[in-house]
Amino acid sequence: MSLDEKIELKIYFDRVYNGVAGNKKYIIISNSLLKLYESNPQAVRCMIVHELTHIKYRDFALSKMINTFGIAFSSNYSRAISLLMEIRAEVESFRINEFTEEEFTNIHTLFNKQNKNPSKLNSYKVGYPSRDLTIAMCIKHKAFTTELINDILNDFCDVMKIKKKRKLVERVKSKFDPNKSTILLDVQLNVHRCN
Ligand SMILES: [Zn+2]
Repeated sequence: MSLDEKIELKIYFDRVYNGVAGNKKYIIISNSLLKLYESNPQAVRCMIVHELTHIKYRDFALSKMINTFGIAFSSNYSRAISLLMEIRAEVESFRINEFTEEEFTNIHTLFNKQNKNPSKLNSYKVGYPSRDLTIAMCIKHKAFTTELINDILNDFCDVMKIKKKRKLVERVKSKFDPNKSTILLDVQLNVHRCN
Protein backbone atom coordinates (compact mmCIF):
# COMPACT_ATOMS: atom_id res chain seq x y z
CA MET A 1 0.00 0.00 0.00
CA SER A 2 1.38 3.41 -0.78
CA LEU A 3 -0.02 6.60 0.69
CA ASP A 4 1.76 9.87 -0.02
CA GLU A 5 0.69 12.02 2.88
CA LYS A 6 0.81 11.80 6.64
CA ILE A 7 -2.37 10.37 8.11
CA GLU A 8 -3.37 11.69 11.52
CA LEU A 9 -4.88 9.33 14.09
CA LYS A 10 -7.74 10.83 16.11
CA ILE A 11 -9.66 9.36 19.03
CA TYR A 12 -13.36 9.65 19.86
CA PHE A 13 -15.22 8.31 22.87
CA ASP A 14 -17.27 5.19 22.30
CA ARG A 15 -17.60 1.89 24.15
CA VAL A 16 -17.77 0.08 20.79
CA TYR A 17 -14.57 -0.95 19.00
CA ASN A 18 -14.83 1.20 15.93
CA GLY A 19 -12.86 3.13 13.35
CA VAL A 20 -13.75 5.62 10.63
CA ALA A 21 -11.73 6.95 7.72
CA GLY A 22 -12.50 10.64 8.29
CA ASN A 23 -11.08 11.91 5.01
CA LYS A 24 -7.79 11.50 3.19
CA LYS A 25 -5.88 13.10 6.08
CA TYR A 26 -7.09 11.29 9.18
CA ILE A 27 -8.51 8.16 10.75
CA ILE A 28 -10.65 8.20 13.89
CA ILE A 29 -10.77 5.25 16.25
CA SER A 30 -12.76 4.80 19.44
CA ASN A 31 -11.02 5.10 22.80
CA SER A 32 -12.18 1.57 23.67
CA LEU A 33 -10.33 0.21 20.62
CA LEU A 34 -7.20 2.18 21.54
CA LYS A 35 -7.36 0.76 25.08
CA LEU A 36 -7.12 -2.71 23.57
CA TYR A 37 -3.65 -1.95 22.25
CA GLU A 38 -1.76 -3.24 25.28
CA SER A 39 -3.57 -6.55 25.48
CA ASN A 40 -4.35 -7.04 21.78
CA PRO A 41 -2.32 -4.82 19.42
CA GLN A 42 -3.31 -6.95 16.43
CA ALA A 43 -6.96 -5.93 16.78
CA VAL A 44 -5.97 -2.26 16.60
CA ARG A 45 -3.71 -2.91 13.60
CA CYS A 46 -6.54 -4.77 11.91
CA MET A 47 -8.89 -1.79 12.23
CA ILE A 48 -6.27 0.80 11.26
CA VAL A 49 -5.20 -0.98 8.07
CA HIS A 50 -8.89 -1.43 7.21
CA GLU A 51 -9.35 2.35 7.46
CA LEU A 52 -6.10 3.06 5.56
CA THR A 53 -7.44 0.90 2.74
CA HIS A 54 -10.57 3.06 2.64
CA ILE A 55 -8.30 6.11 2.34
CA LYS A 56 -6.21 4.50 -0.38
CA TYR A 57 -9.32 3.86 -2.47
CA ARG A 58 -11.05 7.08 -1.45
CA ASP A 59 -13.94 5.16 0.11
CA PHE A 60 -13.99 7.51 3.06
CA ALA A 61 -16.84 9.79 2.07
CA LEU A 62 -19.25 6.92 1.92
CA SER A 63 -17.88 5.15 5.01
CA LYS A 64 -18.07 8.32 7.05
CA MET A 65 -21.71 8.94 6.21
CA ILE A 66 -22.67 5.39 7.01
CA ASN A 67 -20.67 5.15 10.24
CA THR A 68 -21.37 8.59 11.60
CA PHE A 69 -24.98 9.15 10.66
CA GLY A 70 -26.29 5.62 10.30
CA ILE A 71 -27.40 6.37 6.78
CA ALA A 72 -29.00 3.50 4.88
CA PHE A 73 -28.71 2.70 1.22
CA SER A 74 -31.61 3.22 -1.10
CA SER A 75 -30.81 0.49 -3.61
CA ASN A 76 -29.33 -2.98 -3.81
CA TYR A 77 -26.78 -1.58 -6.27
CA SER A 78 -25.52 0.85 -3.59
CA ARG A 79 -25.54 -1.85 -0.91
CA ALA A 80 -23.51 -4.15 -3.16
CA ILE A 81 -20.93 -1.43 -3.93
CA SER A 82 -20.52 -0.72 -0.22
CA LEU A 83 -20.20 -4.42 0.49
CA LEU A 84 -17.32 -4.74 -2.01
CA MET A 85 -15.65 -1.66 -0.56
CA GLU A 86 -15.87 -3.11 2.97
CA ILE A 87 -14.71 -6.61 2.08
CA ARG A 88 -11.79 -5.11 0.14
CA ALA A 89 -10.75 -3.20 3.29
CA GLU A 90 -11.04 -6.40 5.36
CA VAL A 91 -9.11 -8.64 2.99
CA GLU A 92 -6.39 -6.02 2.54
CA SER A 93 -6.04 -5.72 6.31
CA PHE A 94 -5.76 -9.51 6.57
CA ARG A 95 -3.12 -9.61 3.82
CA ILE A 96 -1.03 -6.56 4.77
CA ASN A 97 -0.95 -7.41 8.48
CA GLU A 98 0.07 -10.96 7.56
CA PHE A 99 -2.36 -12.35 10.12
CA THR A 100 -2.68 -16.07 10.52
CA GLU A 101 -6.20 -17.44 10.00
CA GLU A 102 -6.47 -17.99 13.74
CA GLU A 103 -5.42 -14.43 14.58
CA PHE A 104 -7.86 -12.95 12.07
CA THR A 105 -10.69 -15.16 13.33
CA ASN A 106 -9.98 -14.20 16.94
CA ILE A 107 -9.94 -10.47 16.15
CA HIS A 108 -13.27 -10.56 14.34
CA THR A 109 -14.83 -12.82 16.93
CA LEU A 110 -13.84 -10.25 19.56
CA PHE A 111 -15.29 -7.38 17.49
CA ASN A 112 -18.44 -9.39 16.87
CA LYS A 113 -19.05 -10.13 20.54
CA GLN A 114 -18.53 -6.61 21.69
CA ASN A 115 -20.30 -4.84 18.84
CA LYS A 116 -23.28 -7.23 18.79
CA ASN A 117 -23.26 -7.28 15.02
CA PRO A 118 -26.44 -8.23 13.23
CA SER A 119 -27.10 -11.32 11.11
CA LYS A 120 -25.83 -11.68 7.55
CA LEU A 121 -29.17 -10.47 6.15
CA ASN A 122 -29.27 -7.40 8.39
CA SER A 123 -25.64 -6.63 7.60
CA TYR A 124 -26.31 -6.88 3.87
CA LYS A 125 -29.24 -4.50 4.26
CA VAL A 126 -26.83 -1.79 5.41
CA GLY A 127 -24.13 -2.66 2.86
CA TYR A 128 -21.80 -4.51 5.23
CA PRO A 129 -20.46 -8.07 5.46
CA SER A 130 -21.21 -9.73 8.82
CA ARG A 131 -18.13 -10.61 10.89
CA ASP A 132 -18.67 -14.34 10.27
CA LEU A 133 -18.84 -13.73 6.53
CA THR A 134 -15.73 -11.54 6.69
CA ILE A 135 -13.77 -14.32 8.38
CA ALA A 136 -14.98 -16.93 5.90
CA MET A 137 -14.34 -14.82 2.77
CA CYS A 138 -10.89 -13.58 3.81
CA ILE A 139 -9.67 -17.03 4.77
CA LYS A 140 -11.08 -18.60 1.63
CA HIS A 141 -9.80 -16.04 -0.88
CA LYS A 142 -6.79 -14.40 0.85
CA ALA A 143 -6.84 -11.48 -1.63
CA PHE A 144 -9.40 -9.23 -3.33
CA THR A 145 -9.82 -11.37 -6.42
CA THR A 146 -12.51 -11.68 -9.08
CA GLU A 147 -13.49 -14.99 -7.44
CA LEU A 148 -14.10 -13.24 -4.13
CA ILE A 149 -16.18 -10.55 -5.86
CA ASN A 150 -18.29 -13.18 -7.63
CA ASP A 151 -18.63 -15.21 -4.46
CA ILE A 152 -19.84 -12.38 -2.26
CA LEU A 153 -22.13 -10.81 -4.89
CA ASN A 154 -23.81 -14.16 -5.53
CA ASP A 155 -24.32 -14.71 -1.82
CA PHE A 156 -25.64 -11.16 -1.41
CA CYS A 157 -28.21 -11.70 -4.19
CA ASP A 158 -29.31 -15.05 -2.73
CA VAL A 159 -29.67 -13.83 0.85
CA MET A 160 -31.40 -10.61 -0.27
CA LYS A 161 -33.65 -12.67 -2.61
CA ILE A 162 -32.84 -10.47 -5.60
CA LYS A 163 -34.81 -11.60 -8.65
CA LYS A 164 -32.68 -10.10 -11.43
CA LYS A 165 -29.47 -11.43 -9.96
CA ARG A 166 -27.35 -11.59 -13.09
CA LYS A 167 -28.34 -8.07 -14.12
CA LEU A 168 -27.35 -6.62 -10.75
CA VAL A 169 -24.07 -8.53 -10.58
CA GLU A 170 -23.10 -7.38 -14.08
CA ARG A 171 -23.98 -3.76 -13.30
CA VAL A 172 -21.95 -3.73 -10.09
CA LYS A 173 -18.97 -5.44 -11.73
CA SER A 174 -19.03 -3.05 -14.67
CA LYS A 175 -18.81 -0.06 -12.31
CA PHE A 176 -16.59 -1.33 -9.51
CA ASP A 177 -12.96 -1.55 -10.53
CA PRO A 178 -11.16 -3.49 -7.74
CA ASN A 179 -8.03 -1.37 -8.17
CA LYS A 180 -9.57 2.06 -8.43
CA SER A 181 -11.16 4.67 -6.22
CA THR A 182 -14.87 4.29 -5.49
CA ILE A 183 -15.55 7.97 -4.90
CA LEU A 184 -16.99 8.62 -8.35
CA LEU A 185 -19.46 5.78 -8.27
CA ASP A 186 -23.07 6.71 -8.48
CA VAL A 187 -24.16 5.48 -5.07
CA GLN A 188 -27.46 6.62 -3.68
CA LEU A 189 -28.18 7.04 -0.02
CA ASN A 190 -31.35 7.56 1.95
CA VAL A 191 -31.04 9.99 4.79
CA HIS A 192 -32.53 8.12 7.69
CA ARG A 193 -31.21 6.15 10.61
CA CYS A 194 -30.90 2.47 9.98
CA ASN A 195 -30.64 1.19 13.54
ZN1 LIG B 1 -14.96 0.00 6.54
